[in-house]
Amino acid sequence: MRRIVIVGGVAAGPAAAVRAKKIDPNAVVMLLEQGEHIAYGVCELPYLVSGEISDTAVLRPYDATRFARNYGVEVRVFNRVEEVVPARRELAVRDLFRGPVEVIPYDRLILATGSYSTPLGLAGERAPNVFRMKSLDDAQSLCRWIDGRRPATAVIVGGGYIGMETAEALRLRGCGVTVVESAVGVLHDMDESLSKHGLDILRRHGINVQTETRVVELAADAKGNVGKVVTNNGSLPSDIVVITAGVTPETSLAEQAGARLGELGGVRCDARQETTVSGIFAAGDCCEVRDAATSRWSYMPLATIAARQGRVAGENVAGGSAECKDAVRAVGIRLFETDLVQVGATVQQAKEAGIAALEQTIESTDRVPFLKHARPTSIRLVTEAQTGRMLGGSVVGGPGSAQTGTMISLAVHERLTSDAFMRLDHVYAPPMSPFKDPVAIAARRLHAERTDR
Ligand SMILES: Cc1cc2nc3c(=O)[nH]c(=O)nc-3n(C[C@H](O)[C@H](O)[C@H](O)COP(=O)(O)OP(=O)(O)OC[C@H]3O[C@@H](n4cnc5c(N)ncnc54)[C@H](O)[C@@H]3O)c2cc1C
Repeated sequence: MRRIVIVGGVAAGPAAAVRAKKIDPNAVVMLLEQGEHIAYGVCELPYLVSGEISDTAVLRPYDATRFARNYGVEVRVFNRVEEVVPARRELAVRDLFRGPVEVIPYDRLILATGSYSTPLGLAGERAPNVFRMKSLDDAQSLCRWIDGRRPATAVIVGGGYIGMETAEALRLRGCGVTVVESAVGVLHDMDESLSKHGLDILRRHGINVQTETRVVELAADAKGNVGKVVTNNGSLPSDIVVITAGVTPETSLAEQAGARLGELGGVRCDARQETTVSGIFAAGDCCEVRDAATSRWSYMPLATIAARQGRVAGENVAGGSAECKDAVRAVGIRLFETDLVQVGATVQQAKEAGIAALEQTIESTDRVPFLKHARPTSIRLVTEAQTGRMLGGSVVGGPGSAQTGTMISLAVHERLTSDAFMRLDHVYAPPMSPFKDPVAIAARRLHAERTDR
């Protein structure tokens, strides 16, 4: 009987466990998680903080017992894997309550150890009013502090999408919010139009944003709380601080097992999600991925990719045969009333990968413009200059933006050219879409630019 052990219980790990048990119902599948919760909704955490989600239970459909009962997987929470011994195919696992280390054998191992919030390296980072936004425990601690202390001011360190979502959440909870970002703009790894829109939206909602600003000190008051965030541009009062700047792949077990890491610090796997160590697979935020747009190694810590890699690893450890395609970075952010979507590569990112790219932007509406509630929509497509292959795109608009982004993602995945969009029969109904599909118009213009026709 096959013995499959999976380390990490949030997105990639449970997906792997369920798939492995499905492929080989006779296998013993064990899921080990050092924290309390498994298989919970991480992406929803900002909405727990904002109050849009009022019941934590909806984010935790399973506890260990329920997961075990539903899927036939043995689940151990509060169990930390401290060592992997590939030569003997054994793990040293510590029960964090009872203390002792147990040796657990495996035939196949999946590391789904995820990522951790990158430390700033400043004293004060562990003060009671300094929070992270990485796990359910983090979000619950933040909620408890807000409910109990009603903070008037909050400083968010990091202007990536999680920082922006957290800024919105705290604004909705009545805090005066400042976002501090070291790059020249927020959402700095996205299209510059999204960065600009994001900044405008935050400012329009009364959120102070300081770009090109570095935190140099978290200054504690007499009670040990951080009362002031000192930056290179002055200081900011802070009843609470939330650090969202960066995640680092958690690779300590992989490294210790001798698995190869990539230049971006994540585990390098083959298409079957197997590491360079025989019998050890990896999935999720601890891994690097091949970018379908640029064909380069990249780091894309996203739940969608983690779950997919988990399923592939789970299938393969159970004797099946599955492969992960290269990944498309597909990110959406709802900021107050506007959806911002980024898919694949920007022109700049393509250029950095040695690919000459073209882009076209179409300003349109999300339905026939003279109908009530028509909203502006801006769509940008990016294609390879030589071939017209779709590399990516961005969307700024209302509900429906995510679906447009998903369509672009499909095109990048399948290596379609912009011509495919020109020929597309889009769904047209006046209250749902404009007569001339902005994606098709952008595609036609890109085609004309490339072919001079
Ligand atoms: C606030 C927030 C919002 C997000 N929003 C989105 C979104 O809208 N869309 C999207 O696609 N993605 C989103 N993400 C990203 C997504 O949540 C992650 O990509 C996903 O959680 C990764 O899953 P994972 O299982 O690989 O790793 P993780 O979620 O990091 O889980 C890894 C688990 O492994 C455990 N572990 C690590 N080492 C050990 C060990 N030695 N022993 C035992 N257990 C161990 C950890 O305790 C952890 O629970 C968001 C993330 C955050 C934080």
